[in-house]
Amino acid sequence: MIRRRRRTRRIYVGSVPIGDGAPVAVQSMTKVHPRHIAITLRQIEEAAKAGCEIMRVAVPDDEAVQCLQEIRERSPLPLVADLHFNPRLALMVVEKGIEAIRVNPGTIRSRKRLREIFEAAKEKGVTVRVGINAGSLPRPYEERFGRTPEAMVACALDAVELAEEVGHRELKVSLKASDVPRTVEAYRLFSRRSDYPLHLGVTEAGPPFSGGIKSAVGLGILLAEGIGDTIRVSLTGDPVLEVRAAYHILRALGLRERGVDIISCPTCGRCEVDLEPMVLELERRLAHIDRPLTVAVMGCVVNGPGEAKEADVGIAGGKSSGVLFIKGRVVEKIPPEKWIERLVEEVERLVAEPPLSGNGGCTGPAEEP
Ligand code: SF4
Repeated sequence: MIRRRRRTRRIYVGSVPIGDGAPVAVQSMTKVHPRHIAITLRQIEEAAKAGCEIMRVAVPDDEAVQCLQEIRERSPLPLVADLHFNPRLALMVVEKGIEAIRVNPGTIRSRKRLREIFEAAKEKGVTVRVGINAGSLPRPYEERFGRTPEAMVACALDAVELAEEVGHRELKVSLKASDVPRTVEAYRLFSRRSDYPLHLGVTEAGPPFSGGIKSAVGLGILLAEGIGDTIRVSLTGDPVLEVRAAYHILRALGLRERGVDIISCPTCGRCEVDLEPMVLELERRLAHIDRPLTVAVMGCVVNGPGEAKEADVGIAGGKSSGVLFIKGRVVEKIPPEKWIERLVEEVERLVAEPPLSGNGGCTGPAEEP
């Protein structure tokens, strides 16, 4: 059972709403130094095409601050500048203009400097993510609580209080650890004590397969409990993979939909066609589709017709031919070598039809009154 989404404040990163019932926003991060302006922009554009709504860019030095300006002017997405260690860089970025910054009280340790950053951000209308990380907690919190969820939450609440002291409330908070139990617990604890919107993530999740699973478990638990307003799946890989993984997680929980959901059977001794390469090819050929559709490819008649019938387009297999279903109707029998071609054809035909509703792909449960 998915709980209703927790009520949080509404903030914005650029024009993207976060919190207060807005669709869970999908974020990613560029993977090169901003001095590589063309590559950074290409990564942002590709992520945007895959459905990314906010992009974070690391700003490690002065050169990055200069390059960020050009990147921002040409970026199709609102940007979050990721700042650590050097408060001067944070102030420069805010001064030059940016939609949001991420600061970590564990790497900008001076309370005075953190306060200055919040003040400048408030003045310039820059949203701030207070990004707590279990691996870089300020010493006093670590000494008092250890590297625990309690330490992460105490650190976040103190930073939020500091921002509020200077009147800045365009804030969101993340509390990331590299393991799921601490991450989940930290977000749960924080969400009981504050209504600032939460940016969910499991930090340093790992390579795409294992990292995707780790993120799906951690983010999935929280989202199912109604916690989380924006997500980033951290993977060692292309930002597009992060965005796709995010949508798979949101779709699995019925929170958002985008692109083709391929339902394929795992195959077994009854399967009479070479299904695995077919499914991989289908996935590749339908990757550009952003309309939410389900496509089923099933190896035999055990569960095949049932699943294929429920999908927008589906094929239930057999050795010599499969039955093609469109919106639950049997359309024709086709031999396995033509399955992929026909499925792609039918999906493209459906996509060319006008959509039935314009809800922006958000299918999340209504927010609590
Ligand atoms: Fe096996 Fe048929 Fe089920 Fe596929 S649909 S896993 S081939 S029983």
